[in-house]
Amino acid sequence: MKTNPLSIKIGIIGGGQLAKMMAQEAKRMGFYIQILDPTPDCPASQFADRQIVGDFYNEEKIKEIVFASAVTTYDIEHINTNALKTLVAQGHVIYPSPSLLEIIQDKSKQKEILKRAGIPIPKYKKVNNPKSLAFSLKEFNFPVVQKARKGGYDGRGVFVIQDIHDIGKATKTESILEEFIDFEKELAVMVARSVNSEIRCYPVAEMTFDKRANICDRVIAPARIPKGVQEEVREIAQKCVEVLDGIGIFGIEMFLTRDGKILVNEIAPRPHNSGHYTIEACVTSQFEQHIRAITGLPLGSPELLSSAVMMNILGEEGCEGPAILKGIERALSIPGVSLHFYGKNITKPFRKMGHITVVDRDIERAIEKAEKAKSFLRVITNE
Ligand code: ADP
Repeated sequence: MKTNPLSIKIGIIGGGQLAKMMAQEAKRMGFYIQILDPTPDCPASQFADRQIVGDFYNEEKIKEIVFASAVTTYDIEHINTNALKTLVAQGHVIYPSPSLLEIIQDKSKQKEILKRAGIPIPKYKKVNNPKSLAFSLKEFNFPVVQKARKGGYDGRGVFVIQDIHDIGKATKTESILEEFIDFEKELAVMVARSVNSEIRCYPVAEMTFDKRANICDRVIAPARIPKGVQEEVREIAQKCVEVLDGIGIFGIEMFLTRDGKILVNEIAPRPHNSGHYTIEACVTSQFEQHIRAITGLPLGSPELLSSAVMMNILGEEGCEGPAILKGIERALSIPGVSLHFYGKNITKPFRKMGHITVVDRDIERAIEKAEKAKSFLRVITNE
């Protein structure tokens, strides 16, 4: 990087809420930000210096942003990695690397690498074609989890096969089968690794999910688990990022089983919903940390300053159209509540429209306050 790192231009492929919060932090530090997103008034456009309007698979648009940026990053996984790989081969800088992204995009490849490195993961099997599904199922006890190898996110592409009669409902796309984990908790850890191989690991957080849509709805930090387990989780998370030779910030999702085992579920090569609490509760937010990591700046402290609870504000079921947030006054009258509303014009059922974070030294009180504030907030539409 040049002597004045702030003079460099950062490109972000994707302009959703993660890119918005990344851009916000990068602008605070003085960087120039350009984004690529198909929607002209996407959330990140509120902070970007420049937006290229285009699709994540459009080779020409990808070229345009990478050519104009000293370093390019992304806030989504589903991008044309071949175009990115060609650009890296020509000497352009993209973090995390497109070859890492290609591994992450394919759940089978991702699990294979983790397994080979000795990282604990659930038992899984690649299904080569839909015809071999019944045969592969014989290796598992019901229920079995089927996951599309590519294209899934926020629970889309994940199916639970309860018994052999469910086989007709199974996905016909390339998939993996995975043992069903009767977990005690779902945990997540953010890990940052810089271009200088400096590494920092955030506290362990616990996630709960809205079962109706299998989407994360609440994150509690620190996770209410024994110290020894926290240490083990952090060590495994750090190893995942090292094995992948990752640069940037990564969200490592894990299961804590009822018999105390830790199993890695999946890795997100970008800021993650489970790390939003770091904005209010840590010395350095996950977004600032990512910007530091990819620009070669020293990493900041991931220290937790206060317990925190984050809750997602999801689009109401049955509401689709221009978004209105109701209940703001009542929610914000509770001490310790911060509101983030992403600025997506259209709400849809279960769409991530915003989040709240509550900081409180007492974690149980933080949970209570967050639940109360959340109960006031509704994203609806007037149409
Ligand atoms: P996505 O990429 O869509 O986020 P995940 O693999 O993270 O998919 O799965 C989404 C959710 O489904 C998980 O957070 C968890 O609640 C549940 N799940 C995934 N795999 C398993 C499993 N092997 N056993 C039990 N539940 C699972």
